[in-house]
Amino acid sequence: MSHLKAKSDRKRHKKRVRQIEIMGRKIDVIEGEGLSYNGEPCLGLCNYDEKKIYIERNQPPHTKSETLIHEAAHYFLELTGIAQKLSYSENEVYCQLITAFYTDLKKSKL
Ligand SMILES: [Zn+2]
Repeated sequence: MSHLKAKSDRKRHKKRVRQIEIMGRKIDVIEGEGLSYNGEPCLGLCNYDEKKIYIERNQPPHTKSETLIHEAAHYFLELTGIAQKLSYSENEVYCQLITAFYTDLKKSKL
């Protein structure tokens, strides 16, 4: 979640940087290739120190969007301090729930 072990694709993908705002903090969203966490391939990563979310480029557009929501949920839980009170798998469950809830809710006109 917090460590980036992927190849540094920052230079190559500089033009694709965009920003989202989570709790008033601007977070760079960067698409990269070959992301991994603890040696395992993954679809997204947060780097809290760098204020960055990395998204694996090689995935379908709809999962890319869900991955971003999922990583943004990790970021939100981290900033609120909730993440630190939960285990790794509890964090994953919370982020899956938030992603499902957000994805469902955004279909509705609020
Ligand atoms: Zn996760």
